[in-house]
Amino acid sequence: MELQQGVYRIQGIDPHALVKEFGSPLYVYDADKIVSQLRTLKTAFAASDVRIKYAAKALTNLSILKLLRKSGSDIDVVSIQEAQLALRAGFEPAQIMYTPSGVDFNELIACVDLGLTVNIDNLSTLAKFGKKYRDTYPCSIRLNPHIMAGGNLKISTGHSNSKFGISVHQLPEILETVSAHNIRINGLHIHTGSDITESDVFLKMADILFGLAKNFPHLKFMDFGSGFKVAYKEGDVVTNVNDLGQKLTKAFNEFCEGYGRKLELHFEPGKFIVSESGHLLVRTNVVKKTPTVTFVGVDSGLNHLIRPMMYDAYHTIINVSNPGGEKKQYTVVGYICETDTLGADRMISEVREGDLLALKNAGAYGFSMASNYNSRFRPAEVLIINGQAKLIRERETFEDLLRHQVEIDI
Ligand SMILES: *Cc1c(COP(=O)(O)O)cnc(C)c1O
Repeated sequence: MELQQGVYRIQGIDPHALVKEFGSPLYVYDADKIVSQLRTLKTAFAASDVRIKYAAKALTNLSILKLLRKSGSDIDVVSIQEAQLALRAGFEPAQIMYTPSGVDFNELIACVDLGLTVNIDNLSTLAKFGKKYRDTYPCSIRLNPHIMAGGNLKISTGHSNSKFGISVHQLPEILETVSAHNIRINGLHIHTGSDITESDVFLKMADILFGLAKNFPHLKFMDFGSGFKVAYKEGDVVTNVNDLGQKLTKAFNEFCEGYGRKLELHFEPGKFIVSESGHLLVRTNVVKKTPTVTFVGVDSGLNHLIRPMMYDAYHTIINVSNPGGEKKQYTVVGYICETDTLGADRMISEVREGDLLALKNAGAYGFSMASNYNSRFRPAEVLIINGQAKLIRERETFEDLLRHQVEIDI
């Protein structure tokens, strides 16, 4: 969203017009931003045979998945349902990486039947997999490198107490299992968490994988997961993907020479691709002055955007209806009967009841984590593409709240 001649617009469209047509609250995504973020990554790592596997869980709307497929992305899924959405969006099974955590073995079998690339994250499953498939179906393994990285503990997945991945210290057990069943390991994978800003962390992970690779002669790819950080507010430190691209592709290409074969370099970004494309538009219901704080109460809350409460995430909030207004301090809160602060002590252009606010960075883990808490409807989603606003999900209705309820006689 940009200020153009004093008015906020997304690809030239006034957010007020969107809310007038599709109602409030409303998730709005800018297709151009999604495509340009994908291009940025592909360009940064172009010196290697790079594949971007968009992490579907960030935003699973079919139209977004289609847009990414058409723009040259592959996809990473964490459940068979996400895989089915990806197939529905037109991805080929070979483009889909399935990276589950602690799922029923039957789901893994179903994903093999679909022809997905299967990524295994524990020794017990690896043994079961080997017993069933031996060398007939390759798999990759998710390793835990024991690196503390990422913005905070909840989004760090590669430290020693994390549930994710097989510890690199268990390499002997991995190798024993692999050779006992003659398993073909086609990929090594590490995902250490979100919001990593240091190129050095990625390079350290890379070194660990390069060191292990000689034990696995059938590799086709290495997957460095994600963790690319985007800006949530002005002046935020972000991952310098061009710097990382230069350093990592150089190291990766040198490694491939030693390994004897060119491998594919995989990443699975979610946030980097879709975060900044999304805005949650909300309407101001009440402005409530207390002796100490001025609250702005909006027609949304943690049911639609849980990140501020769950991760202490910072989402910049702008007053779309009064861009030139005098900046005042507000605490923006939701309408849920629970503390649901969307932004505390923010300087925002003067807010009046009825004003439209926009929460930025709402593309990733916004709608995909939304719920019906307080029996509220989940919002509609709109994609702005080629200068046009397209409805890509309808707002829920009362029927949706009743859909799976079984009403018995009491
Ligand atoms: C969630 C997840 C990602 C995406 O993380 P972002 O921080 O959104 O980029 C990538 N890979 C795996 C395995 C994940 O679980």
